[in-house]
Amino acid sequence: MLEADSMQDHPKHYCGVFGVYGHPKAAELTYYGLYALQHRGQESAGIVTSNGEQFYKHVGMGLVSQVFKGNVLQEMPGNLAIGHTRYSTTGSSHLGNAQPLTGTCWRGQIAVAHNGNLTNAAAVRDELEADGLMFQTTVDSEIILNLLAQPANSHGNNIVQTIRRLEGAYSLVIMTEKELIGVRDPFGFRPLCLGKLDEAWVLASETCALDLIHAKFVRDVEPGEIVAIGPQGLSSVQAFPEQERRAFCIFEYVYFARPDSTIANRNVYKVRVEMGRQLAREFPIAADLVVPVPDSGNCAALGYALESGIPFEMAFVRNHYVGRSFLQPSQLIRDFDVRVKLNLITELVRGKRVIVVDDSIVRGTTCKARVNNLKEAGATEVHVLVSCPPHMHPCVYGIDFPDRRKLMAANYSREEIRSYLNADSLYYLSQPGMVKATGLPQSSFCLACYDGRYPVAYNPDVDKQIIERRNGHRPSLGDGLAREKAQIKLL
Ligand code: SF4
Repeated sequence: MLEADSMQDHPKHYCGVFGVYGHPKAAELTYYGLYALQHRGQESAGIVTSNGEQFYKHVGMGLVSQVFKGNVLQEMPGNLAIGHTRYSTTGSSHLGNAQPLTGTCWRGQIAVAHNGNLTNAAAVRDELEADGLMFQTTVDSEIILNLLAQPANSHGNNIVQTIRRLEGAYSLVIMTEKELIGVRDPFGFRPLCLGKLDEAWVLASETCALDLIHAKFVRDVEPGEIVAIGPQGLSSVQAFPEQERRAFCIFEYVYFARPDSTIANRNVYKVRVEMGRQLAREFPIAADLVVPVPDSGNCAALGYALESGIPFEMAFVRNHYVGRSFLQPSQLIRDFDVRVKLNLITELVRGKRVIVVDDSIVRGTTCKARVNNLKEAGATEVHVLVSCPPHMHPCVYGIDFPDRRKLMAANYSREEIRSYLNADSLYYLSQPGMVKATGLPQSSFCLACYDGRYPVAYNPDVDKQIIERRNGHRPSLGDGLAREKAQIKLL
């Protein structure tokens, strides 16, 4: 029925952004900030610093620790810096698309780091290209750089007008030679927070990055807010005062954000534990053991165990040293790529009725392997519980969910999925239960991948490679040469 493939059961993370204003070791602090945000993107990393007159930039493919080796940071002076860790959500993964993006214009130098996905990227880029602008990359974030570089018009063309042309999800850190600016889209899809380290200001995707550098959390940047930090201090403006509906990505609480981060005054760990408690209230099951799929299911499994009183065991042990690439003896060891990451302590589960908890099942392949693992080890029953509702729709706001054809829940009934997983039962947390666990009203959230109600309209033909695909259909530079030649001959 369902086709197994080697893809993972979790969607990919997208990006992390970080910025520092007013610290002599801005590059180093940004490095540590990105290090703490590594979970948000592992394909490329980059930092740009400013000494008030000049930018210094270093970007590379790979993890933060791989990109910034040797003396790189020592050669990036300045008390102003922004940084980015990337997983590609629009545009392919290669060095040319690594961020922060930089450019020089009438404003001087500008650097931009973007977390999220613009839903009107292709349309705005078409407009800008029609005006004669050139692009160096295929990422939607370059549109923001180009909009900021537009000449001043009668309205002044300030940053407020720039971001009002953007649609979709964007948490931005922007740097000029002398300023640091943080921006969050009016729906607040992605997180962005403000912190203070002595006299320096810090912007970060998540509070865990502030913790690492001993910066104090000041507050979240509000949806639609622009925070500008410069020689005159900090100023803030609400660029979308009429906006009431919010759409924070609830999947940040379920899976993406680090559990030690706090978003909208809710600690992510506590929200996940509460999701597990809610699962236990909705689906009480007679069992001997609650087992998480580490690390993603840890908190929810703990919540289930606490609420139900059923013992909790870390029966799956994670190998933390699995690199991004390893030799895969595809035929030699069955399920190698699953087993190399998590190994099961068989004596904990032998003869037991086991509840296994994870935070999502997107394609189902890995979950099926876990259930088989447990059954082969002698578990008498395996019940799969998921701490969010089934994913039925793709995400267009910066999370790399597969399209509907690859989303298991969009194509099969719960009973069909249970049977494919070879589980004794399968339950998903209800949508009201998931929202309730956050302690925030439903109107605070984007829930589109669950209920298909997209807060910002999007074009279904637009996907991650849209800008590259358009590039194949351009008029040739040589078009019209033959006509010109004929005219020259006539002369
Ligand atoms: S569609 Fe899902 S993953 Fe995407 S922003 Fe909305 S809640 Fe988050």
